Amino acid sequence: QDFFTQVPRIPPDAIFDLTKKFLGDPDPRKVNLGQGTYKDENGAPWILPVVKAAKDKTQDANHEYLPILGLATFRKLATELVLGKDASAIALQRVASSQALSGTGALHLAGEMLFRALGGEAPVYITKPTWSNHRQVFATIGFEVHDFKWYDDNTGQIDFESITNTLRNAPPRSIFVFHASAHNPSGCDPSEEQWRSIARIVQERGLFPLFDAAYLGITSGDYDRDAFAIRHFINECGLQAAVCSSFAKNMGLYGERIGLVTFVTQSSDEAMAVESTLEQITRGEISNPPAFGARIVSAVLEDESLRAEWARNLSTMSTRIADMRKDLFNALIKLHAPGDWRRVVEQRGMFCILGLSLEQVLHLREKYHIYMADTSRISIAGLNPSNVWYTAEAITKTVQ
Ligand code: PMP
Repeated sequence: QDFFTQVPRIPPDAIFDLTKKFLGDPDPRKVNLGQGTYKDENGAPWILPVVKAAKDKTQDANHEYLPILGLATFRKLATELVLGKDASAIALQRVASSQALSGTGALHLAGEMLFRALGGEAPVYITKPTWSNHRQVFATIGFEVHDFKWYDDNTGQIDFESITNTLRNAPPRSIFVFHASAHNPSGCDPSEEQWRSIARIVQERGLFPLFDAAYLGITSGDYDRDAFAIRHFINECGLQAAVCSSFAKNMGLYGERIGLVTFVTQSSDEAMAVESTLEQITRGEISNPPAFGARIVSAVLEDESLRAEWARNLSTMSTRIADMRKDLFNALIKLHAPGDWRRVVEQRGMFCILGLSLEQVLHLREKYHIYMADTSRISIAGLNPSNVWYTAEAITKTVQ
């Protein structure tokens, strides 16, 4: 029987494949600037001290199933965290939430929910460039996915005119996927003023904002500051929205797959309907979500002293990333690397697009064992005091 003859062979995911190549490279000078996972100043994964403390507190937890929507305390505390405790949408019970399999699972659940709500007619708009998985997540559900220019490679800055034009010309009910903070891969976020303009157009045109919130807290070190756009749209403008948050980066819980999807609706009746639908979707897909990550996040969020410790840990990560941006920039200037490198210090968050050609990227990989995405996006967190000069030298020699 020819059961599988029609199955196409899919090439491996580019960024996971890059990690695999890096891990298999025996050269001691190797540098991993590929996958966006935080590393400490020795290039090692960092278990946040607050997570260690929270794990101690969850030791006696049993291994029973969680409810379908996830751990109730996690959902409550994480919703308050992202929207702000005083959000009127929470008080008015206009919020539906579900635990999700990290940020990706939250995007998937949000997409499935919106596909049911809007009959699949609404297109999804994603930024260009964007996180390499966005198109796949929404196209797999059945959405028509369009992209729009977010960032201008020549200037290394946001293309605000393109953004507002796209918003103005999109059909009403279109879904716009915004990066809540630290746009991946460009590191270019709108200013607060620009977010306000975007919200106004979203409101006028009847568009649906979906926030991908994978970097809250780790962008600036201040969670509330990084949540500005989300809270402006929802709390100040009263807009309906979806927020897909992840605790992968900001608590270093990558492999625990802990995230939250939050929908803000017009009424509490709608919120209940949305929540019941999220519950049905999850029951059919994974039955119920994993418990460990949810318990850790809850333990942090329900304890004032652990929350304060988390704030310090966020600051450690974001400060180290900002310092590495400065060190890389200063090294490139000292070495007289041809080119305009201001974007290295001007962009925010974990990522920066260097603006190198594919040929240069491959040269860096083959000759210097420096691994970055083909687009020349680098994860700044892969830099540390021992490899930043080597990296700057290799870049300089490559672009000369
Ligand atoms: N959105 C963006 C923009 C991301 O960069 C990532 C992770 N790289 C995610 C979502 C999802 O991450 P996770 O599923 O690990 O939370």
